[in-house]
Amino acid sequence: MIAVLSQGASPERTEHLINWLKEQNLGVHVSHGETHTVLGLIGNTAGVDIDMIQSLDIVESVTRVSDPFKAVNRKFHPDDSIIQAGPAAIGGGNFALIAGPCSVENEAQIVYVANRVKQAGANFLRGGAFKPRTSPYDFQGLGAEGIRLLLEAKRATGLPIITELMDIRTIDLFEDVDVIQVGARNTQNFDMLKELGRTRKPVLLKRGLAGTIKELLMSAEYIMASGNENVILCERGIRTYESTYTRNTLDLSAVPVLKHLTHLPVVVDPSHGTGHTYLVEPMALAAAAAGADGLMIEVHNDPGCALCDGGQSQTPDQFAETARKIFRVREAVQG
Ligand code: PEP
Ligand code: MN
Repeated sequence: MIAVLSQGASPERTEHLINWLKEQNLGVHVSHGETHTVLGLIGNTAGVDIDMIQSLDIVESVTRVSDPFKAVNRKFHPDDSIIQAGPAAIGGGNFALIAGPCSVENEAQIVYVANRVKQAGANFLRGGAFKPRTSPYDFQGLGAEGIRLLLEAKRATGLPIITELMDIRTIDLFEDVDVIQVGARNTQNFDMLKELGRTRKPVLLKRGLAGTIKELLMSAEYIMASGNENVILCERGIRTYESTYTRNTLDLSAVPVLKHLTHLPVVVDPSHGTGHTYLVEPMALAAAAAGADGLMIEVHNDPGCALCDGGQSQTPDQFAETARKIFRVREAVQG
């Protein structure tokens, strides 16, 4: 249920109403917009007397929200959420250009790629330390050492870092990581989502391997319901009957759908979304045109020798060219 307060609602009376609602065992999500304050009520609202709340002179309107997702719902929070991660912000017009290798391989590699993507305009460095690989015989990532090297690259460039958490027992290693990635294989690891909800770290939540948009939103709801509002959604393609020419089917319609349904920022990953370097730029540009709040692109110093996902990685030169075009597309669609 949402209650939109009238423009003249005083802070004291607003506070009083919020306290009263909390006494009715409801969670109250407060969103201060430019003109109106919106109270999102979560919990068992069946017994709440709508007419009584509606009759208060500080209340403009009360509506029941039938969607299963509440805290992530744009009806609860009409303005775009802006997530601050280190020196960078994402959402509400702040664009995140996230780049880096699929896997951190060694210090020279990650520091070199970090410098190159920064020069090209990236404002986040991403690299995998713990890698979810289909085969147990493939490179599994450098683990804790990979995070240490990412922190070296962060010190060298000032770029905030994003890396994937695969096991909640390793969370202490992520203290200086700016954004924790939840990969497609863990999107419905609900215990992990609840734990991340108890932190205040920004979480980049990927869409599940064959996940629906509603499932993605419900996973984000798990994080927010546990108290962490810093959630960034990531469209990374889904499994469809096509798998010969594309690794996944990148669902760009998810961008405007998500922007319509939720206030959370939406990032697109055209690297995993397509699986081929030659497809990364066109889909990145299309995602920017569709209104994505950010892009996450795999960049490797020597894709032919990459330990993971070389076939979908751009070189630093290719990334610089793509980045230049992304900024031009953004300018064009902003009018
Ligand atoms: C990744 O980002 O490196 C990754 C493994 O992606 P996904 O979880 O989307 O498959
Ligand atoms: Mn990868």
